Amino acid sequence: MDESAVIKIVEANLERLMQAVGVPHWNITVNYGPCDSSPTAAGEVDLTAASYWRAAITINPYQHSEEKDVIDTLVHELLHVVIAPMELLAQTARQHVQSEAAEEALQVVNTHAVEQTVLALERGLARHLRNVPEAAMK
Ligand SMILES: [Zn+2]
Repeated sequence: MDESAVIKIVEANLERLMQAVGVPHWNITVNYGPCDSSPTAAGEVDLTAASYWRAAITINPYQHSEEKDVIDTLVHELLHVVIAPMELLAQTARQHVQSEAAEEALQVVNTHAVEQTVLALERGLARHLRNVPEAAMK
């Protein structure tokens, strides 16, 4: 999608979605362009300032083809914000393990746990946020 179209969709929905997922008190900025994690990623969120209720979402406009995709990415990244305290827990745990292998294992398990939690929350919230019948959810 064209970046300006994506910006319009985000601006029209961000505040409503922040309210809906329970993070209206956060300061969330949205940037547009390729994600650091992967050039093919639709979006990502930087939670390094989560202790201060600040997050920076990046949305790659070229990885979206319609409004629904942009909303899905926005909801996904906002749900990462919801569970940001769990990321802080995992970061702290990783800093205190002595072995590199244990640190790497913690990283892998944490990423899996976080993504599975975000997907479960998405499934639960999607009907309410987009009026999607439960049967249509994957
Ligand atoms: Zn994710």
